[in-house]
Amino acid sequence: MTPASVPSPATVLVFLDPAFDGGRVADASKPQLMATDLGATRGDGVFESLLAVGGRPRKIQAHLTRLAGSARLLELDIPAEDAWRRAVETAIGEYRRQDPPAAAGGTAEDEVVVKLLVTRGPEGASAPTCWVQASAPAAAGRRQRETGIDVILLDRGYDSEVGERAPWLLLGAKTLSYAVNMAALRYAHQHGADDVIFTSADGRVLEGPTSTVLLAHLETSDDGAGGVRTVRRLITPQLDSGILPGTSQGALFTAAKAAGWELGYGPLEPKDLLDADAVWLISSIRLLAPVNHIDGQEIGTPELRQQLTAELNALFATIE
Ligand code: PLP
Repeated sequence: MTPASVPSPATVLVFLDPAFDGGRVADASKPQLMATDLGATRGDGVFESLLAVGGRPRKIQAHLTRLAGSARLLELDIPAEDAWRRAVETAIGEYRRQDPPAAAGGTAEDEVVVKLLVTRGPEGASAPTCWVQASAPAAAGRRQRETGIDVILLDRGYDSEVGERAPWLLLGAKTLSYAVNMAALRYAHQHGADDVIFTSADGRVLEGPTSTVLLAHLETSDDGAGGVRTVRRLITPQLDSGILPGTSQGALFTAAKAAGWELGYGPLEPKDLLDADAVWLISSIRLLAPVNHIDGQEIGTPELRQQLTAELNALFATIE
């Protein structure tokens, strides 16, 4: 039996290595990183998480663009996009070879979590350590797409302008330093909630520890011809408020606009969330998780949440 500390066989690692065109496949059950790697000792590095569906990585360009932006902010000189694309392809192919998708007609969805990881490497290294990991999605995330989640608001302690004032906080980068985000999630679990929405010291809605906040407002008015006109508005916090720009939010906004939704970008306060017709936490792996309650207060109605979630899921499914 596999010891708990060792990854399951269907975890695939592919290191970016100039000697291997498609990347170098490595054994995930064996140590692969130096214990002195600054990624391990300081959380000094960046990453991306994306979902491959049916063997195809989704929104790969948006993830590669954000990875390059994060690396620039940390002054990490990472390989070019095509090397990442080849390693991602190798990782997904190898994963599907080791753990083939259910045969046609099977119930399991053909999803693979793909992480692109960069660490600064051991002290004095001339180049960062870069690899791709492919593994199975967590069952809890997939369940939460269906059941929805209960969320608590937690103060992140920074004001919403700190990102611009203090770029060294790296708030717009997806760094490996996620200990605070994970601690917030544990705090939520200890308090009976599934997830968190961070607020700023000046009372603005920011983001989840691993997701972007979205809300929907429906406004009905007389259409002047005896009927009713419904304006559907999708709103997310301001992108320059010290949050990570979400690739899922960005792609969904593009699809929603084409489908007739109006779009808005904060500023948002907790009251706006509580008054919304629906709220979601959206991210690349869990996708849209409808929020049932915030600090114990129900958001919208179950019917409206379900209807709007189905509508946005259908839009999101059209994204490459
Ligand atoms: N905000 C934070 C802090 C995140 O960690 C993530 C994803 O992991 C997101 C937002 C959502 O980003 P994406 O939609 O690109 O997955």
